[in-house]
Amino acid sequence: MQQSTDKTLEQGVYCRESNWDIVVIGDGPSGLIIANQCALSDFKVLVLSKDNGKKWTNNYCFWKSELDVVRPPKPMQNLFNECIEMVWNTAQVHLRNTTRVDIDAPFAKFDSLKLQQHLQELATESGIQLQTGEVTTIEQLPSHSVVHTVNCTYTARVVIAANGSSSNLLQYSTFPKPGYQIAYGQVLDVSNFDIPWTLDTMSFMDFRFPTKHHKFFQSPPSFLYVLPLSTSQVFLEETILATRESVDFEMLKERLQLRKETFGLGDAPVLDQEFCRIEMGGSLPKTGRTLAFGASAGFTHPVTGFQILRSIYTAPRLVATLKEHWSADTETLCTEAWKAIWNDTERRNRKLYLLGLDMIVRFNLRETQNFFEAFFKSSPEARASFLSGFGSTQAVQSSMWETFKHADWTTRAKIVQHSSQHPTALFSALFDQLSNLETS
Ligand SMILES: Cc1cc2nc3c(=O)[nH]c(=O)nc-3n(C[C@H](O)[C@H](O)[C@H](O)COP(=O)(O)OP(=O)(O)OC[C@H]3O[C@@H](n4cnc5c(N)ncnc54)[C@H](O)[C@@H]3O)c2cc1C
Repeated sequence: MQQSTDKTLEQGVYCRESNWDIVVIGDGPSGLIIANQCALSDFKVLVLSKDNGKKWTNNYCFWKSELDVVRPPKPMQNLFNECIEMVWNTAQVHLRNTTRVDIDAPFAKFDSLKLQQHLQELATESGIQLQTGEVTTIEQLPSHSVVHTVNCTYTARVVIAANGSSSNLLQYSTFPKPGYQIAYGQVLDVSNFDIPWTLDTMSFMDFRFPTKHHKFFQSPPSFLYVLPLSTSQVFLEETILATRESVDFEMLKERLQLRKETFGLGDAPVLDQEFCRIEMGGSLPKTGRTLAFGASAGFTHPVTGFQILRSIYTAPRLVATLKEHWSADTETLCTEAWKAIWNDTERRNRKLYLLGLDMIVRFNLRETQNFFEAFFKSSPEARASFLSGFGSTQAVQSSMWETFKHADWTTRAKIVQHSSQHPTALFSALFDQLSNLETS
């Protein structure tokens, strides 16, 4: 599929490049993952990004077992494994002072800069061109698309927008409304402090707070997320799992300070900060000639805010579909590609996740704690398939059903009340399970 590049410079300010197989827009994790996967299948790929090469600073974490399930093809598999910086064997959840849940599932963190560097190096080795350019419009012609930046046009058979959530290059409906995970994090130097965390255990959710500040921690509900990074550094993040309210980072900063003081870390030097805002849920992009990948495609899990593993999981499937249908007309090629971006199971599961999101944004602190108490009583398999985002529909339903079954009556009533906007999803989540029980 390699073809020659026709590059014309007119008066030094305007260029026209043609004959790319695929133009990927965005060089975030999803953009580089899909670009590399395409190049490994011999497609001629250009990556265009408005801030090409900008350093990735987010902490990208995931459940380690998911990477084992996803099993990306080599050499991508080796690359991802090499970029794992830390693995915590256990994750803890503190719902209240007296309720602790230990999750015996390893939780891992990529070294984000290493991941970026390795994906960039593989891209260069595979002949991918990485260029700077902010895409303004994409013009669709019968057999190809023309991608416009301020001073350049690029012609390609297929365009993949991997330019982050609410992409300006795709169309979304106004319903359902997205929620947002909002979090404020700090890396602390704890060399001169005693800390209550070990390098073997991370804290996935810690709802405990100083009781005299009870009111301040009520709304919106937030929890502490802790990654012990070394004997001298720890990452603490005050996290609102999902909200549709506007949130002031100062409020999260104050909550974090109060929690730090309870651990005797009020004066620990702050080495770095993270301001996190992740769009979750919302509508999927409308299908069409421009394909979507990563956050722009709605891959972010509507309840957890995780996304990276979903991109790693979907990339080989999308590329295999492009390869299989490359000789078809462009319209058919893109129609088939969309089926690989979101298959039927994933579309069904998403409805269930949106139901979960809609409940969580409405819960107050006590309801959130009660809900997660029930959720963490469900079987590890059911829990894992809900959190992963790529289990079977039956597994996701079963996790929701188990949560409902373990919940007290007040929480059950709240679940039904808060999910009234999704009667079909609620019906399918709860009653499919009931009928399974009856028929088994
Ligand atoms: C602080 C934070 C922490 C997170 N932690 C995790 C985690 O632990 N685990 C996890 O799985 N997920 C996590 N996520 C969620 C998700 O994985 C990230 O948001 C991830 O960066 C999304 O990747 P992406 O490549 O789809 O989009 P982005 O990373 O947003 O990249 C989009 C790229 O497109 C470029 N771009 C945008 N518009 C244009 C345009 N018009 N023309 C050209 N280029 C354009 C941008 O410059 C950027 O390079 C986190 C998110 C945040 C914000």
